[in-house]
Amino acid sequence: MTAETIESGAVDPALLDRAAGVIVGQACGDALGAGYEFGPPLDETNAVELGGGLNTMGWDVGEWTDDTSMAIPLLDAAADGSRFDDAASLGAVIESWRVWARDARDVGIQIRAVLADVAHPDETSARAAAERLHRERGRSGGNGSLMRTGPVALAFLGGGAGGGLGSEPEVATLAALAAAARRVSELTHWEADAGDACALWSVAIRHAVLTGDLDVRVGLAVLPADRAARWGALLDEAEARHPRDFEQNGWVVHALQGAWSAISHGQGPVDALERAVRGGRDTDTVAAIAGQLLGAAHGASAFPDEWRARLHGWPDLRDADLVARAERAATASLARS
Ligand SMILES: [Mg+2]
Repeated sequence: MTAETIESGAVDPALLDRAAGVIVGQACGDALGAGYEFGPPLDETNAVELGGGLNTMGWDVGEWTDDTSMAIPLLDAAADGSRFDDAASLGAVIESWRVWARDARDVGIQIRAVLADVAHPDETSARAAAERLHRERGRSGGNGSLMRTGPVALAFLGGGAGGGLGSEPEVATLAALAAAARRVSELTHWEADAGDACALWSVAIRHAVLTGDLDVRVGLAVLPADRAARWGALLDEAEARHPRDFEQNGWVVHALQGAWSAISHGQGPVDALERAVRGGRDTDTVAAIAGQLLGAAHGASAFPDEWRARLHGWPDLRDADLVARAERAATASLARS
């Protein structure tokens, strides 16, 4: 689908490329990091390649993993015009995750436990399962909700876009996006850190798609004041250190810091994804998180054709399918403004 074939006929092709970049960038980072998962940090003399690494999970070259697979039902919902505030679309997302998890090769520990405990595919049941897991284990701040948050941002491109930064409609749209990102996060992750990270990243993704600017701090305004100060300091730390320094990157805070560190030190989107992977350990997820925001700013077209030609994953989709869905989501959401 090209800009010319879109109903409104008025959507900027560069903006559509950036919208597609959210999911294509995520899938590229995910597939690039897949073979390196659980590995140690690598220094800059190590090449990072699609299909490289020890590949202990046996992924195909270009195959995306749970990170992107879990984002697909959210992308489908956004393409259908959902803003993740109704029972039907949230229920459909949860049911899709349950179907996926039955046969998936790799499901995160926290996600698997929560989905197994969801009695019915509805929001109330999922939230209750997420809270139970938190109470049992004393924590639920894994990176598994941040890794899938990109499509939530695509549902909020319209409404306030023309009002200018800081205008009343813009502020209301950012608040609604932050609430939706937190709500989708809380389907599996009860802890506030996960919701904060999803709100922060989703607002930055929206801003990047609309403007082409990479500024993760635009999202600080949607967090409660005390937590905004904390996240501001965490972002400062990310910029001062390397992805490998954020060792606990299965934790949402270190995963976001590792991703932002890779982006802020990267010379363009490919170098930034490689830096994310060189950080080691949860390589596919940190690179998938970085890829969402990199793609939002630089566009799907900024990623190598050789990578995009190899991309594939659940549920039997390829690059063109991701692009078509993201364009539908962007067009549906922009039509609201
Ligand atoms: Mg993964």
